[in-house]
Amino acid sequence: QDTNKYTGIVEGCCCDYETVDSVNGEVLHPLLQELVTIPFFRYFKVKLWCDCPFWPDDGMCRLRDCSVCECPENEFPESFKRPSRPGLSNDDLMCQEGKPEAAVDRTLDRKAFRGWIETDNPWTNDDETDNDEMTYVNLQLNPERYTGYSGPSARRIWDAVYTENCPKDASGEVCPEKKFLYKLISGLHSSISIHIAADYLLDETANLWGQNLQLMNDHVLTYPERVRNLYFTFLFVLRAVTKAGDYLDQADFDTGNNEEDLKAQSLMKQLLYNPKLQGACPLPFDEATLWRGQSGPELKQQIQKQFRNISALMDCVGCEKCRLWGKLQVLGLGTALKILFSVDGQNKSNQHLQLQRNEVIALLNLLNRLSESIKFVHEMGPSVEITFSGR
Ligand code: FAD
Repeated sequence: QDTNKYTGIVEGCCCDYETVDSVNGEVLHPLLQELVTIPFFRYFKVKLWCDCPFWPDDGMCRLRDCSVCECPENEFPESFKRPSRPGLSNDDLMCQEGKPEAAVDRTLDRKAFRGWIETDNPWTNDDETDNDEMTYVNLQLNPERYTGYSGPSARRIWDAVYTENCPKDASGEVCPEKKFLYKLISGLHSSISIHIAADYLLDETANLWGQNLQLMNDHVLTYPERVRNLYFTFLFVLRAVTKAGDYLDQADFDTGNNEEDLKAQSLMKQLLYNPKLQGACPLPFDEATLWRGQSGPELKQQIQKQFRNISALMDCVGCEKCRLWGKLQVLGLGTALKILFSVDGQNKSNQHLQLQRNEVIALLNLLNRLSESIKFVHEMGPSVEITFSGR
């Protein structure tokens, strides 16, 4: 049994595991936990309508019980009226979205979501323009947790996400840039699984929620690579936040609540200019190591396209709350990619960086989710029996 597996430098990054754990535990986690409760960061604008571009025949969005996608009965394709589609069982056809724990609470308090500029993100598929299809969601009322979403619909999304971003060449080799995208997604997947296990419906009748250690172990902890990818993704997003420091420091956190807005500003400064973080891990990830060489620009374009497809896949997630967090976190990753690799590619200063309000919200909420996951793994890892042989 490997008892000392997470030591040394996180692959592809510039900090070691122990430093990440201590900086996260002492500084980042407490700051982020507070930051995401502030009005500016707790409202997210999202189009929850699931117009999946890939599987128009997917029944998930057309079933009567779906809490978002309600269509008149005459619009149901004949095949969905009879739960007998090959490959999908009756359980799958019982709309996942009908489960109360999968539905999104749309209750908002009076703090309005105020838009910023509208600007494109070349890494994502979503059009963030305000329109009638957008819903404003209070993230604090909709924690990412177990929803019951599983089966072929969920599996199909993950399969497509991995096939999309990890095409192997004939020799089975994956170039570092492609591996980098795989690691980013795998790290996000680990984090989602950890949140499901950390807040699980243990007893449906008693509505008892708690930690499911077995699930955490089976989905993540027994696969050291998945844990490593989680650290990788965390450092990548952290680097994007610190790189956008000047921009975020000057950002307008106005929600009309002076006290809370000032708190947002102050917490953001504490996060960006934290002496412990700057001392221990000044460069969490070195983006300059990517897209080098002659084929660099072409590779970057290819990966950008793949990531946009992954972003589009989020419209196919057949559970409202999972779609909300899937979209938010993919937008957060897309924002990190934009900060590190767009803005005309070579621009090292943040002179031309322009972010939408929603991108900033997604970025910081994603960092908070990853930080929570790192903390779970760090605290629970040693207490869980882990066998690595044969994995
Ligand atoms: P899955 O987690 O579906 O994994 C599928 C396969 O992917 C595994 O068999 C394995 O081969 C591979 N894999 C798993 N983890 C990793 C990793 N870290 N790195 C690389 N490969 C991996 N369910 C909820 O209850 N709440 C949610 O909020 C939620 N959000 C979701 C968001 C999205 C975008 C998607 C696609 C699904 C979401 N789900 C959610 C469903 C959840 O992720 C699982 O699909 C579900 O719990 C069924 O798990 P599973 O055992 O089939 O394995």
